Amino acid sequence: MNPLVFVTLLTASLHAADSLDTFIMEQRPSLIQLYEHLHAHPELSFHEEKTSARMAEEIRKTGFEVTEKVGGFGVVAVLKNGPGRTVLVRTDLDGLPVREIGSVPYASKTTTKDDAGNEVSVMHACGHDMHMTCWIGAARALAASKDQWKGTLVFIAQPAEERGMGALAMIKDGLFQRFPKPDVCLALHCDSSLATGTVGFTSGPATASTDTVDIVVKGIGGHGAMPNMTKDPIVLASQIVLALQTIDSRELHPVEPVVVTVGKFNGGTKHNIIPDKVELGLTVRTTSPEAREQVLDAIKRICRGLGIAAGLPENLLPEISLVGPGTPTVNNDPALTTRVTQVWADAFGKNSIVEHKPTMAGEDFSRYTMTPEKIPVFLAWLGTVAPEKIEQAKASGTILPSLHSPFYRPEPAPSITFGIKAMTLAVMNELKRD
Ligand SMILES: [Zn+2]
Ligand SMILES: [Zn+2]
Repeated sequence: MNPLVFVTLLTASLHAADSLDTFIMEQRPSLIQLYEHLHAHPELSFHEEKTSARMAEEIRKTGFEVTEKVGGFGVVAVLKNGPGRTVLVRTDLDGLPVREIGSVPYASKTTTKDDAGNEVSVMHACGHDMHMTCWIGAARALAASKDQWKGTLVFIAQPAEERGMGALAMIKDGLFQRFPKPDVCLALHCDSSLATGTVGFTSGPATASTDTVDIVVKGIGGHGAMPNMTKDPIVLASQIVLALQTIDSRELHPVEPVVVTVGKFNGGTKHNIIPDKVELGLTVRTTSPEAREQVLDAIKRICRGLGIAAGLPENLLPEISLVGPGTPTVNNDPALTTRVTQVWADAFGKNSIVEHKPTMAGEDFSRYTMTPEKIPVFLAWLGTVAPEKIEQAKASGTILPSLHSPFYRPEPAPSITFGIKAMTLAVMNELKRD
């Protein structure tokens, strides 16, 4: 931070809700700088060393008591302001192995080795750099307005959201035992189709339960000219891929949201060799435990059934395994959702608050409500796209870049302004003075 900004921070104080806008505009230049720095220097999941240190440094300057290395590179920052309730605000820290395609001067040129030792480009393609910037901005605004709320803030910066494992790591490292236990948990996530100046929400199930499934389709390899002497796993794997499409279309209830995507199909070495193995990689998305069980059972049944139909012996039937713990559905607490969206509607106008259908993306923010404490959570979607870009896309029939796209980039200034105000007002409302 430049020294001038630090002086502004120390002397700034918010005396009325209106002055929040002024405060954010004063802070915005330094926050845009922070955003650009984070965008240019992304780190992969579980490797967020520098990002985490920067977040700890920034939030410590606002007066929070900071603990680092909670569940890997997690940061927990606490600000006590008298008796009252406790609110947790979460940002995530990690980038993705994506090569950015963009012309802005702060576009990421970062490369690194992934956990398998491959050289990969890294990009904040999911907007976690924007989450961090709004998190710091809200921390500054709340620290500067302690006369307007009471209680305790627990600001957490979570690693490895993209691997669906960071929230669990922080919880296992004593998040709810070593630090004040929250009454509610809040988070914003960038949205790649909503306009800046708007926020999206879903009451109840808001994101998908995600599972990663590996299937090894085995066969008996041999000469490509003598298929009768083999059991061809490429043909069998192809049948499996097509049959999997019928789980959603023929087996599940027609209005049940389900996605079964085969994102990986690897097999073979040469044109005239029938291989002895094909590897399939699937992502499975559902929003209820019953649908999840039904889909996973159907995958096993289809693989086994088609293996038997291909004439494979028992020991060569397809092997199916679940990878990792998956990410459960984020279940936004209806009462908390109503309270927060009402505050936003009053501040931004009803038309700026957009009700969303659940997304089939996954988010491990769900984990914070799944401990025995069952703490209510609310995750909302921050509009990050310039309204004129949405209009242009509509007019030309083009598709806007989605999250995880090498082209996705939030509009920094309006997203930061709106995100900080939205989060600050939501927290203040939960920690109202009598
Ligand atoms: Zn993501
Ligand atoms: Zn994300």
